[in-house]
Amino acid sequence: MPPTTRFAPSPTGYLHLGHAHAALTAWRRARAEGGRFLLRLEDIDPGRCRPEFAAAILEDLAWLGLDWDGPVRVQSAHLPDYQAALDRLAARGLLYPCFCTRADIQREVARSACAPHSPDGGPLYPGTCRALSPAERADRLAAGVPHALRLDMARALAQAGPLSFEEEGEGTIACDPARFGDAVLARKDAPASYHLCVTHDDALQGVTLVTRGIDLKPATHLHRLLQALMGWPAPRYAHHGLLTDASGRRLAKRDNAATLRDLRAQGCTPAEARARAGVTDAAWALAPPARR
Ligand code: GLU
Repeated sequence: MPPTTRFAPSPTGYLHLGHAHAALTAWRRARAEGGRFLLRLEDIDPGRCRPEFAAAILEDLAWLGLDWDGPVRVQSAHLPDYQAALDRLAARGLLYPCFCTRADIQREVARSACAPHSPDGGPLYPGTCRALSPAERADRLAAGVPHALRLDMARALAQAGPLSFEEEGEGTIACDPARFGDAVLARKDAPASYHLCVTHDDALQGVTLVTRGIDLKPATHLHRLLQALMGWPAPRYAHHGLLTDASGRRLAKRDNAATLRDLRAQGCTPAEARARAGVTDAAWALAPPARR
């Protein structure tokens, strides 16, 4: 079956060559194998995403020479979908409200001798709010105390059983989602988390091959668990290396990596940008000409 791939940037800044590499990787796999290439804007974080970056992403990808199939899915326009998924997990007793602030968690963690970290960054959640009594929980909810929703990892693992995912070039990888602890699936300041929305949308949009940077490979362990809990199909995965700068550091928005806009303003052509993003014109020519 020809694959359905996608590029799913978050509009928190302008695209740089690292994004171009990721987008071209997904686009070429779809086009070379007669599949579909989808574009999705992962803009559920109102604090970090901006409409001008969303518009710039579409413009920059078109400049680079990419086209996509069907309408762009904009996550912020589908919040009820993610709420419905959260409701289903909650109905099975897999979520609990967490009222902790970052400082609360730091304090709690500081008391224990060893503090493992979650791949999401920060210490593994010590489970404080999992232990609240139903009455305490109800009181805080009634008082409107801001809360996140966390996955009860132990219960989730018990319901899902052992899991694995398929990584191209590596084969079957046994999942270890417990490394995330009780992951946040809805944040205090955002209606749903990246992990929930990305797995929801990959399933909804029929994505069969997820190509993305290797920095997101750890997240796949949690994504596979969410897929199993929700009854969503598991796509194949192909995590790719990240582009680095001359000193070997990965390109990142926060380091002001040269954006596609900068390159374009400096007179760089789309073909040069594609080559710098790791796709030479010879490789580009592999995609059927009708699609270019
Ligand atoms: N939205 C995510 C990001 O910009 C990528 C999601 C994915 O490819 O799974 O980092």
